[in-house]
Amino acid sequence: MTHAKPNVSTFRTLDDADVANKRVLVRVDLNVPVEDGRVTDDTRIRAVLSTIGEIADKGGKVILLAHFGRPKGVDPKLSLEPIAGEVASRLGRPVAFCPETIGEKAEAAVAALKPGEVLLLENTRFDPREEKNDPAFVAALAELGDLYVNDAFATAHRAHASTEGIAHHLPAYAGRCMQEEIEALAKALEAPERPVMAVVGGAKVSSKLELLGNLVKKVDLLVIGGGMANTFLAADGTDVGKSLCEHDLGATARSIVEKAKAAGCEIVLPVDAVVAKEFKAHADNRVVPVDGVDSDEMILDAGPTSVANVVEKLKGVKTVVWNGPFGAFELSPFDMATVEVAKAAAELTDAGRVLSVAGGGDTVAALNHAGVAERFTYVSTAGGAFLEWLEGKALPGVEALRR
Ligand code: ADP
Ligand code: MG
Repeated sequence: MTHAKPNVSTFRTLDDADVANKRVLVRVDLNVPVEDGRVTDDTRIRAVLSTIGEIADKGGKVILLAHFGRPKGVDPKLSLEPIAGEVASRLGRPVAFCPETIGEKAEAAVAALKPGEVLLLENTRFDPREEKNDPAFVAALAELGDLYVNDAFATAHRAHASTEGIAHHLPAYAGRCMQEEIEALAKALEAPERPVMAVVGGAKVSSKLELLGNLVKKVDLLVIGGGMANTFLAADGTDVGKSLCEHDLGATARSIVEKAKAAGCEIVLPVDAVVAKEFKAHADNRVVPVDGVDSDEMILDAGPTSVANVVEKLKGVKTVVWNGPFGAFELSPFDMATVEVAKAAAELTDAGRVLSVAGGGDTVAALNHAGVAERFTYVSTAGGAFLEWLEGKALPGVEALRR
């Protein structure tokens, strides 16, 4: 595995920034899983506390920029307002909230800030211009600050207004979480011991599928799980019933298999599955071979033979990188495969036999659920960005912070 070595000394960090009395726009990742209004995994919030605290302690006026979910326009269900309280309670200082991202109200809220105070602006993605990196939106954001700090490694693979565009308007620095991510990934994966296994699962099939084509050139084994596996199985003619699956991406999946063959990368797909008729906890379920899924059933987890297979492969590698759970791990008992593989990886890591790096919002939540996150060599807050970094791609949000 080779990639551009993101040497941290080539980035501006908070060590280079004079934040006292300045308005500091800080892009953070607050895209945490929420269920019934409750944050079910606060890893990402905890990750950005040190940057916020440091800037506030140094007398900066902290203005937090973040996205939440994938809104199409303004969507009250995806407001960041409840998250302000979640940040405040963990930070131990008040966090004001402004229901707008740019414009008069935002300007007034920023103008009211005193040194050391913290303000969270509304979901940047409520404005469609955020994801388009629209110059007028970028300029409006930049108006609100004197300095820009990016602490959101998880969104650094996207050239959006708040993650990339703004870095060209204001003096831009990496926050402590961003800095730590770059340092830790570089250290763990700069020259990984082979064989290297990548595990890719989860639900964001279309956004992750393309990058597998490059990943198979970097790793020796690619284990595919979750919704991603369903797409590969369907592409090969298997009937996956009602399973989460991108049927129109069959050609892409097949081309990835071809690329893997050409690169000498072994692809490992599930051979059995846990299926149910309903997407809910404790739904009636059964284990079937992957070609035995009924048309009214969906695959919600990998089956025990698949798990044993992956664990066996894991024992033969020196490095494992993992993004995306094997099943709908939030719903018991469909957490089985993810938990079993996570425990096996943790044990091999403890024994010094494998170096393990995992990333992704839900993946981190799954490892916490399995109680093994601390035993992995490194756990990144990022999913897609982490995979693109592995592919060897330059991440626009990181590139914009170079000296
Ligand atoms: P990450 O956040 O770690 O990058 P994703 O967001 O891509 O991972 O995927 C996580 C989600 O995938 C979880 O919510 C999980 O329930 C879902 N998932 C995994 N396997 C399946 C499956 N077979 N069917 C439906 N959902 C699945
Ligand atoms: Mg996710």
